[in-house]
Amino acid sequence: MTPFAVRLTFHGDLSRFLRSKLVNAERQLGERTSVKDIIEGCGIPHTEVDLLLIDGRPVDFAHVLGAETAIEVYPVDASGITSFPENRLQVPEIRKFVADGHLGKLVRDLRLLGIDVAYDTTAEDRQLVRIVAEQNRAILTRDRRLLMHSAVRHGYYLRSQNRLNQTVEVLRRFDLNGVLAPFSRCLRCNAPLEQVEKTHVIDQLEPLTRIYYDRFRRCSGCGQVYWSGSHFDKLVRRVEEMRASLAKSSSENPR
Ligand SMILES: [Zn+2]
Repeated sequence: MTPFAVRLTFHGDLSRFLRSKLVNAERQLGERTSVKDIIEGCGIPHTEVDLLLIDGRPVDFAHVLGAETAIEVYPVDASGITSFPENRLQVPEIRKFVADGHLGKLVRDLRLLGIDVAYDTTAEDRQLVRIVAEQNRAILTRDRRLLMHSAVRHGYYLRSQNRLNQTVEVLRRFDLNGVLAPFSRCLRCNAPLEQVEKTHVIDQLEPLTRIYYDRFRRCSGCGQVYWSGSHFDKLVRRVEEMRASLAKSSSENPR
């Protein structure tokens, strides 16, 4: 077939993924190609794209191009863009995640806030992709190739390398502020915590803990016992710090 050009205009911060960093790109194609493949060929994971317009009309990732076309590409957080709410390509209501093996600190923060995040430092990419597909989790990563995997439907590319900023990014991207439940989830294994009578855990406690504390929670997965000991103040401060950063970010960049 006759080669043809596809012109792309990238909105919001999507140009960060392009080598050129420019908001416009042109691709020469020699065969019919899906919009998803064209966009990912530019370096942008499809999980970062929320709306695609051709001639002012929305299309989905599977839309195939075979002739000269101009596409407008919008990110999830495109401030000011409110049209076509029915044609958005990302699902905001994801409540379960899996993080790649380099994000242990972020995982701990999110679990501290009660967010369900699967994490296994030994998992290989194909195992992560399988968890994403089987458990309908969104993958959190700074690895673009992982987000471009065909089995990955939901995911997020973390912009920042700073742990606190990453936590705020995830809370905002998936609109999690209303579902936070600090101290409800095991920091070690991700399972929910349950209230437990002191008499049921007393054998596991150090002598001073037995004397000074009366309220305990136990992990329903690994059995780890939690109480509000000296380490607890630090965790409370961390939760406060995360909430304050989220509020600051939301007021500086309202949707
Ligand atoms: Zn546990």
